[in-house]
Amino acid sequence: MKIQIADLEFEQLLSYEALQTRIKQLAKQLNKDYENKTPMFVGVLNGCFLFMADLVKEIKIPCEVAFTKLSSYHGGISTTRRIRDDLDLTVNIEGRHIVLVEDIVDTGNTLDYLVAKLKKRKPASIIVCAMLVKPDALEYEIKELKHIGFEIENEFVVGYGLDYMELGRNLKGVYKRVVS
Ligand code: 5GP
Repeated sequence: MKIQIADLEFEQLLSYEALQTRIKQLAKQLNKDYENKTPMFVGVLNGCFLFMADLVKEIKIPCEVAFTKLSSYHGGISTTRRIRDDLDLTVNIEGRHIVLVEDIVDTGNTLDYLVAKLKKRKPASIIVCAMLVKPDALEYEIKELKHIGFEIENEFVVGYGLDYMELGRNLKGVYKRVVS
């Protein structure tokens, strides 16, 4: 079934159930890796909010949750490369085990910038858990990118936190643009 968001058409790529199944698997691994480490999950807003919520509900070990906000798409369907630092972390991460929670990695420009910025604050460790990655679009080698929900084609997607012109973030599944 096709859905319309503003001037574009989309069709479902990943169902809510598929996302939840994968998130449970990711959380199981994180529960094991971070036992006795009290990790801090740092979400990159706005897109991460549903992924973060569902992921941390499956985390059974003591953990903290914090957010930062960056933007690079500015409403369109491709990155502008200009990263806007909208909201910095308000917590000290020195000596902490950080799990960066990202909605989607496209070129990797945003993540490369953020990892470098946070590393300067001397965390004990830092890894990235991204819900979606577009391997064919990736231009940076990001060795911290350890956990990936789904690898997808180089196509524009919305839903499950991701927007088109600020719309569609509330969709339960992930939808890809229909190019006719
Ligand atoms: P990158 O810096 O890796 O090129 O882009 C990362 C950011 O661009 C993501 O955090 C997200 O905000 C946005 N982005 C990348 N691909 C998509 C996409 O397919 N759909 C939406 N809605 N945003 C995307």
